[in-house]
Amino acid sequence: MTAGEQTLERAAEVPAYRGHQVEVLRTVRLSPSFVRVTFGGEDLAGFADQGFDQRIKAILPLPDGSITPLGDGGDWYQRWRALPDELRNPIRTYTARAVRPELRELDIDFVLHGESGPASRWATHVTPGDRIVVVGPNAAHPGPLGGQEWAPPAGATHLLLAGDETAVPAIAAIVESLAGSVRATALLEVPEAADALPLDVRPGVDVTWLPREGARHGDLLIPAVRDVLSTLTAQGGTVAGEPVPSAPASVTPLEDVDIDEEILWEVPQAPEVSGGDGLYAWLAGEAGVVKLLRRHLVQEAGIDRSSVAFMGYWRLGRSESA
Ligand SMILES: Cc1cc2nc3c(=O)[nH]c(=O)nc-3n(C[C@H](O)[C@H](O)[C@H](O)COP(=O)(O)OP(=O)(O)OC[C@H]3O[C@@H](n4cnc5c(N)ncnc54)[C@H](O)[C@@H]3O)c2cc1C
Repeated sequence: MTAGEQTLERAAEVPAYRGHQVEVLRTVRLSPSFVRVTFGGEDLAGFADQGFDQRIKAILPLPDGSITPLGDGGDWYQRWRALPDELRNPIRTYTARAVRPELRELDIDFVLHGESGPASRWATHVTPGDRIVVVGPNAAHPGPLGGQEWAPPAGATHLLLAGDETAVPAIAAIVESLAGSVRATALLEVPEAADALPLDVRPGVDVTWLPREGARHGDLLIPAVRDVLSTLTAQGGTVAGEPVPSAPASVTPLEDVDIDEEILWEVPQAPEVSGGDGLYAWLAGEAGVVKLLRRHLVQEAGIDRSSVAFMGYWRLGRSESA
């Protein structure tokens, strides 16, 4: 067997994502809408620290506090789906805000939006010692681990990140790790002014918090994104001296996404990601808002879709399990 074949065989045996048994070590109420939960456990020694917008799954307890075992394999999802309703734990998607494998620690920042969803309810009442399972990237896997969408092309000269409170952990992790001199603008819509969290960013990274204070989701974010784009294009159709990547003149009309039926998740993958200079945008949050932003960027502003990641993180009035 060649070395390449051995790696493939190992990749099939050692899954890219697996369940990690974790226990709540401590919680910090960061602001009215955010609680940071720090998890610990020996299992986290093998949790890969990839940074950026690392997606994970939280497997939450059933009403009696139990978590049905799903095994260590990569087939955890199929096993979960095959369980009878009464044994199937709620699963919700979150972001690894920080990973410290050497300390066997993981931080997740939960938005507290009331008692209507199992994850927000759990995070509202969480106490040290509570246990869940986090499905996340497995450092032992020999191939790519995935679960990240942040992929600016090397030639990007301006980065635009925009999202609501559910995207704050991802945007915060991204902007805090930006290296080099590329300019970045982050627009973060949050429920109230006290949810503006301190972020450790370098010069050239502009962070603007947009407190809704009772307004609807998107009411502040959408005009703020429009303003940034029009400022950039008013600078002679350039971003930081480079052209805004515009769609080819013969671009096909933007197909509609029915966000009540399907997830809005339109992310250019390398090598699709535009290798051109100029703007790269990453947009996440409530699906209806992201859909409006998508229309604005692609149809009205004519920005090339291969330069923008659009992600519906949640849907107003719909549970993630629906
Ligand atoms: C890749 C990815 C990363 C994410 N990262 C994070 C993260 O780091 N932190 C985080 O808090 N969320 C994050 N989210 C969003 C999170 O998965 C959803 O908010 C999820 O619906 C919460 O589950 P729940 O059990 O609380 O509510 P659900 O059972 O899913 O929904 C119950 C009700 O609550 C509403 N609802 C859900 N979320 C919100 C909200 N934020 N505000 C108001 N109403 C809401 C729903 O519309 C529904 O009516 C992420 C989502 C994705 C796809």
